[in-house]
Amino acid sequence: MTKYKLEYIWLDGYTPVPNLRGKTQIKEFAEFPTLEQLPLWGFDGSSTQQAEGHSSDCVLKPVAIYPDPARTNGVLVMCEVMMPDGVTPHASNKRATILDDEGAWFGFEQEYFFYKDGRPLGFPESGYPAPQGPYYTGVGYSNVGSVARQIVEEHLDLCLAAGINHEGINAEVAKGQWEFQIFGKGSKKAADQMWMARYLMQRLTEKYCIDIEYHCKPLGDTDWNGSGMHANFSTAYMREVGGKAYFEALMAAFDKNLMDHIAVYGPDNDKRLTGKHETAPWNRFSYGIADRGASIRVPHSFIKSDYKGYLEDRRPNSQGDPYQIASQILKTIASVPASAQVSAAA
Ligand code: ADP
Ligand code: MN
Ligand code: MN
Ligand code: MN
Repeated sequence: MTKYKLEYIWLDGYTPVPNLRGKTQIKEFAEFPTLEQLPLWGFDGSSTQQAEGHSSDCVLKPVAIYPDPARTNGVLVMCEVMMPDGVTPHASNKRATILDDEGAWFGFEQEYFFYKDGRPLGFPESGYPAPQGPYYTGVGYSNVGSVARQIVEEHLDLCLAAGINHEGINAEVAKGQWEFQIFGKGSKKAADQMWMARYLMQRLTEKYCIDIEYHCKPLGDTDWNGSGMHANFSTAYMREVGGKAYFEALMAAFDKNLMDHIAVYGPDNDKRLTGKHETAPWNRFSYGIADRGASIRVPHSFIKSDYKGYLEDRRPNSQGDPYQIASQILKTIASVPASAQVSAAA
């Protein structure tokens, strides 16, 4: 038998953006445990805005596991928060009720700022660094500083070793701003991996005395870029059948459900989606071929392959909950009238 360090990780009850929480328990197993072998566990919900003090027990239900490369015999355990009965999802548990479909693929582009001493990494104590321009995909100390690249590389290695589909990195437009991409098949699979990648990033940067700022417009109403989490998506139907008629019906459904999408695409998105700086205004739906100023960007590859492939919703922001974002996209896709599919397939 081996003693495994199980890190149970969950989302707390803070609004509008939950925080990641985690605690460790040691359990013995003959080999690396399976999800089914992991027991339910509890925590004090009154300390996480998930319960009143007088009846504070909440239950942690393991829903996904990954090896923890930073610990000997470590296991990262993604959990859903349940009521004391262990079967009723807690009100803060969005994952329990989202739409899922293994044929739906999601690629999330997580943008974020490194923050140190209350300002973006590399910003001077007062005032601003040289204006945006050279930082995006930049190289060299004056563009990216001395520790950011070390962190993003370490994070990449941690994710890959944990079996998380980390797909790439780039330095972003603002100084101190970066992006990584996570891809998964199914909304739960993709979103679990995104939350775990966020967790690994936050845990990793503790030793650098650096925080991750996920707010979508941390520098306010300035010329400094905000942070998004573009959601690239495709269903089996979009990849295999597609067609112009179906695409247009799909875009009409997105237009119709505009406010339902904005409601789960992250807080303060009106401060980011202003219509300036390659953003579409938050309150108007648009789409365009290779258009980075549209709500949905249609890649060239989509048009070339006769309206088949994936689309990029550019509106979700860096603080958005990938569970709810993916689910809303699936909900809108499901609302497309069946007649649009039939005519596209005919
Ligand atoms: P850009 O910065 O040009 O918008 P990125 O390369 O950062 O693009 O991100 C593209 C994302 O699209 C990746 O996360 C990738 O996994 C995702 N993606 C690629 N093909 C598909 C697909 N068929 N379905 C869903 N997502 C996809
Ligand atoms: Mn990108
Ligand atoms: Mn980007
Ligand atoms: Mn993008």
